[in-house]
Amino acid sequence: MSNISLNNIYKKFGATEVLKGVDLDIRDKEFVTLVGPSGCGKSTLLRILAGLEQPDKGSVLIDGKNVTSVRPADRNLSMVFQSYALYPHLTISQNMMTPLKLRDLKARERLPVFGPLLSRAKYRPLIDQVKKTAEILKITELLNRKPGQLSGGQRQRAALGRAMVRNPLAFLMDEPLSNLDAALRVHMRAELSQLHQRLGSTFVYVTHDQAEALTMSSRMAVMMNGKILQYGPPDEIYRNPNTIEVAKFIGSPAINIISGAIDENAHVKILDKTLDLLAPSQSPSIQVGIRPEHLSFCNEHVSAFKGFVSHIENLGADLFYHLKIQEEEQPVIIRTSANEGLKHRLKDLVHFELNLDKMMIFDHHGLRLQTHVNEPSEMAS
Ligand code: ADP
Ligand code: MG
Repeated sequence: MSNISLNNIYKKFGATEVLKGVDLDIRDKEFVTLVGPSGCGKSTLLRILAGLEQPDKGSVLIDGKNVTSVRPADRNLSMVFQSYALYPHLTISQNMMTPLKLRDLKARERLPVFGPLLSRAKYRPLIDQVKKTAEILKITELLNRKPGQLSGGQRQRAALGRAMVRNPLAFLMDEPLSNLDAALRVHMRAELSQLHQRLGSTFVYVTHDQAEALTMSSRMAVMMNGKILQYGPPDEIYRNPNTIEVAKFIGSPAINIISGAIDENAHVKILDKTLDLLAPSQSPSIQVGIRPEHLSFCNEHVSAFKGFVSHIENLGADLFYHLKIQEEEQPVIIRTSANEGLKHRLKDLVHFELNLDKMMIFDHHGLRLQTHVNEPSEMAS
């Protein structure tokens, strides 16, 4: 069991307030991701959880026990960093054994920790533990190599292995994949998810990459500017962001944002058209968010929008059309499946419509407003 809870955490460095009252609950066996732009305080929060930093205010609880002033080594958490920090002169097997030796041996016996002592009987259980971990990570054939003889991905797995041999209460990972090339990152995402399943332990994972957060997390906490803006399962955050900042940060390509207004009958107006969408609110100006997959091309009709194709991105399976609607506005992006073929060419004048059910309306503070689609019966009356 390892429930973790961070309560009302505040942290300043000099005059800079880095964490401004953060609450986070992590359930046993969850894969929780802290995701947000660089500098928002993710690493600081993780380091406070690990005990490497002290909060100015607030508490850290593990299994209900207040560990706020407990030393990092006594929290039984394992940290994996972006830089792998493997000892270059030791084999992978020796690297993986160091945390075990450091923990198990009495101070007087720690000296030969880097030596070739593998044959001594007292290390047998440690060797078995390393072998078992290596099997889980599928790095058995690498155990006798040195870090310099491994690829980036293999080194990353070895670093994970070193974190795993101790059987910690939870794994804390700070951007562990950011040194890897794009293809390997995608591969390691799948590996980490599977590893999480196999180990059945708690993972707390920091990243600025929303794709990593979306693909791996049981729940993700979107952080900005020292605060958690939203915390929930990835599909919930993607489909139902509660602020415009979250809506813009999650999703690639980014959500389309179009400025608009609410008329006197509570109808949403954008791009000189009144929509059959009601948003009861006093907000003087609004922002409409709609994801690229929720726009579609159509034939010309009275409520269709029109624009010029200004750019086409072909991603193989998907096509993204950038449409210029009004000179001053950002282009709107429509996503279509490549199966549908190339529907339009550069500079074509095209018509499109929006899926009103999927539209998100934000007030002038960026907070989500409740909307509902006007039913045909209402329209008739
Ligand atoms: P993230 O991991 O989200 O990129 P960090 O938690 O590393 O953000 O940093 C948040 C802010 O705190 C940054 O502005 C950073 O410069 C500052 N900061 C982090 N650690 C220290 C430190 N030890 N001393 C001073 N400022 C720090
Ligand atoms: Mg960081």
